[in-house]
Amino acid sequence: MENADIRVRFAPSPTGELHLGNARTAIFNWLFARKVGGKFILRIEDTDQERSRLEYQKMILEDLRWLGLDWDEGPEKEGTFGPYLQSERLEIYRDYARRLEENGLTYLCYCSSEELESRRIEAQAKGVAPRYDNRCRLLTEEDKRRHVQAGHKAVIRFKVEPERVKIQDWVRGEVEFDTALFGDFVIFKSDGYPTFHFAVAVDDGLMKVSHVIRGEDHLSNTPRHVLLFRAMGFQIPQFAHLSMILGSDGARLSKRHGATSIGFYREEGFLPEALLNYLALLGWSSGDDQEIFSREELTQKFSIERIVGSSAIFNPEKFHWVGTQQIRRFRLAALRQRLEARGNDFSKIGSDHLEKMIGFVRERAATLKELGSELEVFVKEPGLESEEAKKAFSSSRAREILEALKHVLENEWKDEAFPVKSLSSCQKSLGVSGAEFYPLLRISLTGHAHGPELKDLCPLMGKGEVLRRLEKALKKF
Ligand code: GLU
Repeated sequence: MENADIRVRFAPSPTGELHLGNARTAIFNWLFARKVGGKFILRIEDTDQERSRLEYQKMILEDLRWLGLDWDEGPEKEGTFGPYLQSERLEIYRDYARRLEENGLTYLCYCSSEELESRRIEAQAKGVAPRYDNRCRLLTEEDKRRHVQAGHKAVIRFKVEPERVKIQDWVRGEVEFDTALFGDFVIFKSDGYPTFHFAVAVDDGLMKVSHVIRGEDHLSNTPRHVLLFRAMGFQIPQFAHLSMILGSDGARLSKRHGATSIGFYREEGFLPEALLNYLALLGWSSGDDQEIFSREELTQKFSIERIVGSSAIFNPEKFHWVGTQQIRRFRLAALRQRLEARGNDFSKIGSDHLEKMIGFVRERAATLKELGSELEVFVKEPGLESEEAKKAFSSSRAREILEALKHVLENEWKDEAFPVKSLSSCQKSLGVSGAEFYPLLRISLTGHAHGPELKDLCPLMGKGEVLRRLEKALKKF
């Protein structure tokens, strides 16, 4: 296969927000396409009329764009094989259903959902796996007429003959399925919409999808799709079913484990690069010890062969760590722009100076939100109302110390050289401990007794601002 013929797709159902699990599926598909120079298709699977919502569709597109997963064909970027919204392809599905019918591969089934349900319960009670018993295959013309006259609604079922369907999966190896386990299945519902299985098979076939990379929860659907591909004369794609992402308790990752939507992490200020990096590691490794990757490195190093079969555990601490590492490897100007794009207003500070401040505080931040609040100290005067401030200012010598501090900084702080030694001699001559002396300066500047080194913080804040804040603190007395 030529690399240009490699076509993968991400096919979300717009029944909810994009979450970590399906974002990872999108990322693997995108990385694979970008690595080999193939095409990445986005297809919206919105045939579930009850649960699909336009607002989810919009959010999914927005999140994918934010993650930088650009698609070569899909909504808002039509290609040769569109439309890419299943709800706009109904005629195509009807046409293929007609072809199957003409070849005698389908039939109408009039069993009502109540009947099916009671048979399912009966089967369960007997301890047998529930499956359709194919009874409507045997309807006579007379039976059919009676159903139609009675106004019974029909679904279209695809005939399944007993056989063993084998697939080669990049992650699972050879997997074999016994078709006897599932019986004739529905390809068109009574509401006139195709089922998920049918729409997927028609679309993967017509869109010439060469590799289906998706969650393991779809593995059991694969034999149905293979039967449909064959029946419609489509090439059968290669498969890679990704293990599920689990929470730390070993259960499948869900809201129970905390936030799972991409929108949440985006709001929290995680860099899309951090999500891309961390999610790429859930089920794939580069083979060496590298864990921090730029987008370009990932597209160079990704390979479908290195997808691992064991389940991946979502570890919030590790994700946080990846966040800090990504923030550290970013250019300062890029971080400044991202902060500004998020609406952080640092317009009072010049860009160069702001970038120095970002460089100073970024070690402590995993997200843009954290970075923004670390920077706040430079733009927002501290309220001196906190318990730690009140306690420090109530000490009997607080005022005297602050005045001495102000005096030293006013007179001994020349240009860039912060007067570390003079401060230390001042502390000694007052006869107070460092633990009493320095926190007063830090609290006056930041509102907190603990935080960045004063010798780094003060020069960044600037002499004028430092003295102003000290004076303000002195007014407290
Ligand atoms: N629409 C399906 C889902 O959101 C994906 C189908 C597929 O990848 O084959 O789970």
